[in-house]
Amino acid sequence: MAAYSSPHSQYCANCGTSLDPGALICSNCRRFTHADQMEQLANRARQLTALGQLPAARQHWQAILTLLPPDAAQRQGVLREIEKLDKRMSPPPKKADWAKRLGPLGVVAAFIAKFKTALLLLITKGKFLFSILAFLGVYWSLFGWWFAVGLSASVLLHEMGHYIAVKRFGFKAELPMFLPGLGAYVKWNGANVDPGVRAQISLAGPLFGFVSGLLAYSLYSTTHQMVWLAVAQFAGWLNLINLIPVGIFDGGAAISALGRQQRLMILVTCLALAFILHEWAFGFVALGAGYRIWKRDFSLEPRQGIAFAYIAIAAANGLLSWYCFNMTRLLLHRAV
Ligand SMILES: [Zn+2]
Repeated sequence: MAAYSSPHSQYCANCGTSLDPGALICSNCRRFTHADQMEQLANRARQLTALGQLPAARQHWQAILTLLPPDAAQRQGVLREIEKLDKRMSPPPKKADWAKRLGPLGVVAAFIAKFKTALLLLITKGKFLFSILAFLGVYWSLFGWWFAVGLSASVLLHEMGHYIAVKRFGFKAELPMFLPGLGAYVKWNGANVDPGVRAQISLAGPLFGFVSGLLAYSLYSTTHQMVWLAVAQFAGWLNLINLIPVGIFDGGAAISALGRQQRLMILVTCLALAFILHEWAFGFVALGAGYRIWKRDFSLEPRQGIAFAYIAIAAANGLLSWYCFNMTRLLLHRAV
């Protein structure tokens, strides 16, 4: 008896009808003979896609095609997945080799283009760096090194957010590195990773940063030491700044997973918050979103959920900063 029972190939797992050798579908209940195997293959293909291992993912979808009957409606869906992978594996042709096509004029054009981004970076980053330092200096003189300790802990928590997210997606990562005076970063190999996954890793930082701000605020509400209010405010503000969707900011990577509509959503919400709360950092996030709409580097598969998370995390950080700032002002006013 045991010699006959190879239920996978001989009998339908659903109704027990005996199957013709090589049959892809049960003649009685129409269940696919390899349904379980195909489901496993599809799950693995999605995992591989999320990990950025696109050729392997494509092979898995291809394997499903060989198990599906030729007239199955599901073939369309599988073919679409393969098409999507092919699109991602062959990036669109580079815009144009302007320098080559236009000769010396192209070199000048290329130089101006490069210079423009350098200028943009200098204006934005330089200004930020300066304002952050100025801000830091004021707090430093007010609260001394307890403020530095609190802020470093907050930055560390932000970075741990990235680290934990990287680990959760199964990548290797190094523990956060501190760059004295500049901040910190987590080193991991993000090349070829799905933009949606990368966006979640990027947003994990400001999310944990917000939690660090809340912790600082709860420290303030139990100890009534103003320094924790200052840490909470600065943490919220720093994480909001980090969501400006350009360059190496966390927002820059996160917005890459979004389409035009979602970017517009971020622009409008942050612009509204900038006007309502008089918080210019929101204005810069809106400005960045506008730049990324103009740049048109939209995602092929925009994720609505990431847009909502982006807005929620930006608003949470900004509101925390705004609330603590006004509270500080009120308390200082009362003290004088
Ligand atoms: Zn970050």
